[in-house]
Amino acid sequence: MVSLKINGKAVEVPEGATILEAADKLGVHIPTLCRLDIPEFSLHNQGASCRVCMVEVAGRRNLAPACATPVMPDMEVKTHTARVINARRTIVELILSNHPKTCLTCPKSTACELQSLAAELSIQGIAFSGQTSRHTVDASSPAYARDMNKCVLCRRCETMCSTVQTVNALSGLNRGFATCIGPAFNMPISDSVCVSCGQCVAVCPTAALSEVNNAAEVWAAIKDPDKFVVVQTAPAVRAALGEAFGIPAGVPVTGKMAAALRMFGFDRVFDTDFAADLTIMEEAAEFIHRFKHGGKLPILTSCCPGWVKFFEHQFSDMLDVPSTCKSPQQMFGAIAKTRLAEELKVDPARMVVVSVMPCIAKKYEAGRADMGRDGRPDVDIVITTRELVKMIREAGINFAALQDEAFDDPMGESTGAGVIFGASGGVLEAALRTAYEWITGKTLDAVDFTALRGLRGIKEATVDVDGMPVKVAVAGGLGNARKLLEDIRAGKKQYHIIEVMACPGGCIDGGGQPYHRGRTDILKKRMKALYAEDKSKVLRKSHENPFIKKLYAEFLGEPHSKLAHELLHTHYVKRPRM
Ligand code: SF4
Ligand code: SF4
Ligand code: SF4
Repeated sequence: MVSLKINGKAVEVPEGATILEAADKLGVHIPTLCRLDIPEFSLHNQGASCRVCMVEVAGRRNLAPACATPVMPDMEVKTHTARVINARRTIVELILSNHPKTCLTCPKSTACELQSLAAELSIQGIAFSGQTSRHTVDASSPAYARDMNKCVLCRRCETMCSTVQTVNALSGLNRGFATCIGPAFNMPISDSVCVSCGQCVAVCPTAALSEVNNAAEVWAAIKDPDKFVVVQTAPAVRAALGEAFGIPAGVPVTGKMAAALRMFGFDRVFDTDFAADLTIMEEAAEFIHRFKHGGKLPILTSCCPGWVKFFEHQFSDMLDVPSTCKSPQQMFGAIAKTRLAEELKVDPARMVVVSVMPCIAKKYEAGRADMGRDGRPDVDIVITTRELVKMIREAGINFAALQDEAFDDPMGESTGAGVIFGASGGVLEAALRTAYEWITGKTLDAVDFTALRGLRGIKEATVDVDGMPVKVAVAGGLGNARKLLEDIRAGKKQYHIIEVMACPGGCIDGGGQPYHRGRTDILKKRMKALYAEDKSKVLRKSHENPFIKKLYAEFLGEPHSKLAHELLHTHYVKRPRM
């Protein structure tokens, strides 16, 4: 341990810690624009690229960046002297001098870290003017836009994309005022290996990276009297939406969310959890078929579009390994535009399916060539949790004061297994609840597979299925998925089922969720909210959902029937590795 003093107060931290970490321990706030903490990855970005965290160290002539200066015994640090504050102001003014002054209309307004920093430093004018950067906005992706005019070159996105996700879609390009962060040769992001996971968007401090906003299309569809507009909401949305309205993290707002969506004017308000139950029916049946008939194992889950695109690029020699099931979002759309349309006597051509997702990859997924039927997409418009927050505000709804309302039937009914899809490990747990009972013909009483829960990047377990050991694993984040798949390819590890989610904590940590700024405690609370909702349900196994049973009895036949295949399954394509 090393002892030092910060602002005259003694503190002890491990050798190798930085001044910034020592200040954290004392509760002293040193502002920074480039710091990226991802505790579950033990990743602390110390690139010192923004230089906002400068501090005075006794005995040194120059100010030192707190994030990149290791503590020394008996060091004396001052974090908020007049000299330090002036230096921080100058640095931020220099950044602002090369930043568009469009805060009033910027998509990140009120959530921008640069805006907050300027306020924190009481910056009321910019002393510098002159040449500025000019970049063309890359709007090639259906998921997110790259506006490098707003980039502060903090490189958080690059760390996230390369170190955590191992996608390597982003890196520094050019020099001087032309410097930006982008794909090789500054090609359009949609032509690159980017998988649209949105984790770079989640950590970008400004609107240099921001999701495509589709809210206007939703309002237009609702207003159009010729359209019949249904909405589905993914499990993870309810666990985080309340945070934007002053409701403590971890309080699920399922009923208020249904009430708000009904106030918008949707014709039906449904739950993607219903389709999560349907996914389990198809996925568990596929696993059991492969398990009993010597098929390809491990089976890999396929409900995360970021992960699907990742394996299409990086493991294209293994395209027969993942499950062929579409994601719950797409299964929902496929059933809404067939069975539901038939039941409600609505022409499917008039039906608009809107999804509220924690995810920006779902925007990309909805437009994939392998989705939809007869030239009609399964899902028409996808908005994120953050876009839903803005729409609730636009509509003037006092969200916190809303009375709970239920979803509509039949696609609003779900089991606890459907709810936990939103947390890393939840899809696998849900699949095991059903697969166990189908394989053994016995009732599973202990439905909580706790070894698969939590934020650890890789979780492994062996499940006893009536004397048969079933080896399973969960990977949260694409870097962990790469590790698992490379071990399997090299014959070092064997599993029966693997769940992969592109976002490190699963969908609760999705790129479209309210920003959590690396706060693991918030992620844990969101996770807890979903497991609590699961526990509160009378039915906790997907195959027990009465509306799913009815759907198979009256429409689909059985899992993997010809019609189920046509509507609920897909195929994958080989994509370039670089
Ligand atoms: S969306 Fe994901 S894959 Fe694409 S650039 Fe961002 S972090 Fe990388
Ligand atoms: S795009 Fe955003 S996260 Fe990436 S370097 Fe620029 S400001 Fe930082
Ligand atoms: S983990 Fe969830 S939120 Fe993240 S990319 Fe996959 S589906 Fe989207």
